[in-house]
Amino acid sequence: MPDLPEKPSARTDLAIIGAGYTGLSAAITARRAGARVTVVDAIIPGQGASTRNGGMFGAHTRISVDAMTASFGAEASLALMNEAPEAYDFTRRFILDENIACDFQETGRIVLASTKKAQATQAAFVAELKRLTGYELQVVPRENLHDHIVSDAYAGGVFYDDHGALQPRKFHDGLMEIALREGVEVVQNCPVQAVEGRKGAFTLRTAGGEIAAQNVIHASNGYTRKPFNWLARRVFPLPSFIIATEQLPTELIDRLAPGRRMMVETRSKHSYFRVSPDGTRIIFGGRAGMVPLGPDLAARRLRATMVGIWPELEDVKITHSWRGYTGFTFEQMPHVGENEGQHFALGYSGSGVAMAPYLGMKAAYCALGDDRGQSAYGLTTPTTRFYHPGGHPLFLAAGEMWYRQVMDRFEAWQAKG
Ligand SMILES: Cc1cc2nc3c(=O)[nH]c(=O)nc-3n(C[C@H](O)[C@H](O)[C@H](O)COP(=O)(O)OP(=O)(O)OC[C@H]3O[C@@H](n4cnc5c(N)ncnc54)[C@H](O)[C@@H]3O)c2cc1C
Repeated sequence: MPDLPEKPSARTDLAIIGAGYTGLSAAITARRAGARVTVVDAIIPGQGASTRNGGMFGAHTRISVDAMTASFGAEASLALMNEAPEAYDFTRRFILDENIACDFQETGRIVLASTKKAQATQAAFVAELKRLTGYELQVVPRENLHDHIVSDAYAGGVFYDDHGALQPRKFHDGLMEIALREGVEVVQNCPVQAVEGRKGAFTLRTAGGEIAAQNVIHASNGYTRKPFNWLARRVFPLPSFIIATEQLPTELIDRLAPGRRMMVETRSKHSYFRVSPDGTRIIFGGRAGMVPLGPDLAARRLRATMVGIWPELEDVKITHSWRGYTGFTFEQMPHVGENEGQHFALGYSGSGVAMAPYLGMKAAYCALGDDRGQSAYGLTTPTTRFYHPGGHPLFLAAGEMWYRQVMDRFEAWQAKG
């Protein structure tokens, strides 16, 4: 990471809060359109979610067509489904055209159904998506799962053959290098404490001094907090946890994950796992808890889930355990938009590697008044709930109890049946 300043310039055209994938992509877009750009991060850039994620690359719709229609209506839902592949193509093309060395591979992704009922729901979704958009996914019956994963834990799955994978930190490093080369000012360890004024004449109060800016973009996703209360009430921080195994023999990895796919599951544990980009470890993530847990407890819980999927890993050592915050909206869909003249792109709900750079680009064009900023992800406004006043999301502690005491047991019972 280059040595970045901790004090911003006093004046800029566009100030961006957050230097993860969203903020850097927005910055590159606006700079290339001729704007002076300052990106300010409260910590070391990338140490939000953008270097901590699982590197699974896809921009698929993660909720059912019915859930989407209930939240957004039929027209906006269709527009969202149709735009998702554009988001994927944008970020994929960006990586390839800019030659970002981030171990990008088109591995495909399999979503694994833990029960027959979950598989039937998947099959219905696949049929509905094809009917509405023409987008084709492959339903994988249990007997063909062994092309992708060798485990008795699943009843089948759906294969997204155009999904991929990357090494998250290398991707962030690549975006940072381009932003700096283009002349973006990136400031670290400099929390933005308040934004005052109006479009065309904002003042950002930061730990490193004031910035006068014509436009502002909030790119803080799961790290959005007070005083940005309007946004903090609409995107809540849900922790996600990952462990890495020690280096394993290639024969073992080939045996367990022959397809080297990105793998996720339908259980509410929401496990996601893959082989590391260098092909030597299993990287295993999921919902070890809905509240922040220490790395040892999280590792124990994830390890138990991993061994439930692959009993052969019983004696394998866990060498790394970490967590980061995903930014969830109540609709579980990302949004780009504007509130009181301030722009935002966030709410990737756990799937932002391809989507965050895309919506960062859209937010930049919106801030510059360029029509290329139009997007189905801006058609609606993220909603809030009375039980989330914007501080620490206390309702997640109740969710944790519910999942641990009820859902996990119910799903284990269902899987046996
Ligand atoms: C453990 C984990 C695993 C994941 N796995 C995947 C995956 O496999 N595939 C996938 O698609 N997605 C995954 N995600 C989600 C993905 O990482 C995020 O959606 C994406 O990185 C969001 O990028 P961002 O730039 O919007 O936010 P972030 O990278 O989180 O950056 C936000 C930044 O805003 C800064 N900030 C906040 N408030 C302020 C302030 N007041 N002043 C200044 N700066 C501020 C923060 O310091 C932070 O650096 C995962 C996330 C986590 C945590």
